[in-house]
Amino acid sequence: MNAPVLLDNARLPRWLLPSDWPQHSGAPVLAHIALDAGRVQSVRPVGDAAPSPHSWDLAGTLALPALVDAHTHLDKAFTLPRMQKVQPGLLGAIDAMLADRVRWTPADVRERASRGLQWAWECGTTHVRTHVDWWEPDAVPMAWPVMAELAQEWTGRVRLEQVALIKLPLFEDAAQALRLAQQVKATGPHALLGGFVHSTNWSENALRNLLVSAQSCDLDIDLHVDEELNAAAVGLQTTARLLREIGYEGRVVCGHICALAAQPEAQAFATLDAVARAPITVVSLPATNLLLQDAVTGRTPRQRGLTLVKEAQARGIPLLFASDNVQDPFCRLGSFDPVEALGTAALVAQLDEPFDTWSQALCRADWLRREPAPARPTLVGMPADLVLFTEADRFGWPSRTASRVVLREGRVARGELPAAWRTAAHAIA
Ligand SMILES: [Zn+2]
Repeated sequence: MNAPVLLDNARLPRWLLPSDWPQHSGAPVLAHIALDAGRVQSVRPVGDAAPSPHSWDLAGTLALPALVDAHTHLDKAFTLPRMQKVQPGLLGAIDAMLADRVRWTPADVRERASRGLQWAWECGTTHVRTHVDWWEPDAVPMAWPVMAELAQEWTGRVRLEQVALIKLPLFEDAAQALRLAQQVKATGPHALLGGFVHSTNWSENALRNLLVSAQSCDLDIDLHVDEELNAAAVGLQTTARLLREIGYEGRVVCGHICALAAQPEAQAFATLDAVARAPITVVSLPATNLLLQDAVTGRTPRQRGLTLVKEAQARGIPLLFASDNVQDPFCRLGSFDPVEALGTAALVAQLDEPFDTWSQALCRADWLRREPAPARPTLVGMPADLVLFTEADRFGWPSRTASRVVLREGRVARGELPAAWRTAAHAIA
């Protein structure tokens, strides 16, 4: 039985349930999830629906909607094994990457990126956003069309978006900025304009040109911003101000924003207040921040590098955790599993209730869209794309999450079905 009609006794996170959902001992009661034709028909508290011969008894198994990995670098993934020694820190990793570029061919990029997408799909992800390094003002990088082909090939399994990761100085000239945006726009609706905004290349004029050219091409934006612990970095606060000045109508993702953690609180909070009023989604990348910030050879890092995730959440700023680099010079670990990112964040940022509260930072693909997100998300009416954690519980999650059953449109796409789930169904049948 690959496709049940009812998932009985599922444990859904609090953020995914209506505010009047009944509680028991301080936790939401378990749910009946009724499926029909690959979609979720209804979600009801237990005790409120009749068992069916085609139900699975999940017995409290944790369930999440399909995962989103909002920030990856598929073009760089899996390059580490062929590299020599890499100097510590962000800028050392960039140097190593530049040296490796001579080996890149379309076949090489395709093989590595495909492996990454396969891993993402296997862990329950249906939406991956990748950045693609873009170095030249007038030449489309070789990896760019490869990603567009992969986006096409993976349609129906993983929605792949691609962001042109362009260093800020290439936007210094307004006409050139517009040409770059037009090239990105021509790729298709899954392409976004991006940039690397850092105090070492800072230019308000270039950032303004980037935002204005995206606006005029009707593009969404995804930036690497203030990925440093330099308190003088002003990329995020300037982005929030410029968006208001130009009346930008799309969505902007600001990734990293580590510098907030190094700034005086009053300044950082004022910036977050401005971000909360702007169409900005924050993406935090805890693994690479831990590895690349405050990194000096032979010295134990003192700072965490993570941005102010609790303060952002308290202001209602949409916030996602994502993988970033996987097995490349920026990060030797990783598996394109966003749950790993949350596992890291839960410790580094001392997050309360990772399952009931923070798991939405792995699931809210709607936070990447320009339309306003619903105040209270729901499974009802959505495709039955679920991730069932067969060995975890709500106290320890995301520990023991390696074992999963992945449902796609109500059918088992991956994982071993625990025999006990079907016992009740067989007894009735
Ligand atoms: Zn990145």
